[in-house]
Amino acid sequence: SENILEIKDIKRHYPVSNGLFSLSKATVKAVNGITLEVKKGETLGLVGESGCGKSTLARLLTGLEKPDQGSINFKGRKLDEWTATERSTMLQMVFQDPYSSLNPRQRIGKIISESMRIHKSGSKDEIQQRVEELLVQVGLRPEHHKRYPHEFSGGQRQRVAIARAIAMNPDLIICDEPVSALDVSVQAQVLNLLKSIQQEFGLSYVFISHDLSVVSHISDRVAVMYLGQLMEIATAEELYRNPQHPYTQILLDAVPVPDPAVQGEDVVISGDIPSPISPPSGCPFHTRCPKAMEICSQAQPELKETEDDHRVACHLY
Ligand code: SF4
Ligand code: MG
Repeated sequence: SENILEIKDIKRHYPVSNGLFSLSKATVKAVNGITLEVKKGETLGLVGESGCGKSTLARLLTGLEKPDQGSINFKGRKLDEWTATERSTMLQMVFQDPYSSLNPRQRIGKIISESMRIHKSGSKDEIQQRVEELLVQVGLRPEHHKRYPHEFSGGQRQRVAIARAIAMNPDLIICDEPVSALDVSVQAQVLNLLKSIQQEFGLSYVFISHDLSVVSHISDRVAVMYLGQLMEIATAEELYRNPQHPYTQILLDAVPVPDPAVQGEDVVISGDIPSPISPPSGCPFHTRCPKAMEICSQAQPELKETEDDHRVACHLY
């Protein structure tokens, strides 16, 4: 199917001060050469440990930040060539924390209608009617438009954030850890809401999470990120059945088993994630990889297609 978003070799490095008395500037290689595409109507899951660059990538994809290098094309046109109004009708974002992403001093109706008011997408009455429709679409009640965020639970606030995101009928929503701040009992409800909205409106999602079990549950394809680079990308089914990259294999082994009596700690990968200021040479995973070979610290593996719709960056392939 057709791609709505195509990114090619994008990089985003931040300068950081290298200690109080140091004159040299170091750089954090937050996103370090990523190429991928998002297809119309799909959910692309993006998974990795904290600090792997997922949130930076999300901000680059929504145009909140610009890449230092590489291109981002939306519907065949460069992202920065679209006007702000066009962009808000194409791209929206749902953030992790529904407590801090909604202005506590604004009523829900004002929060949801923000883009519609900025981009003058209707008369006052039309916008008010649209707000009430949106509230119903996300499982709230029309009269809730008068309330303030603190009058809602975490799950309801995330519903408000979703209503705000779909207000302009976007093509793509970037969801950055949208359920990780919620109680487990509420997570499935919010995920189901996202799914049903997607089916109704043919939306695409980029779904970002550190939790591979959540991602593989909701995604059509999954991309695995490590230290600002892609390690593997495949359909969710294929990745689950046939993980090829050693990092993906370890992440899958770390997915908690359903029996709480056997369930261990969240992460079982040995060694700390190296600093993105000085990522390892060669394959960025070689300092923690149980299958590392001599070449791994010397040459960086390219992302290669090993099967249909399955790409891996590893010298084993
Ligand atoms: Fe491990 Fe080498 Fe593959 Fe990197 S390239 S994942 S170090 S085997
Ligand atoms: Mg993050």
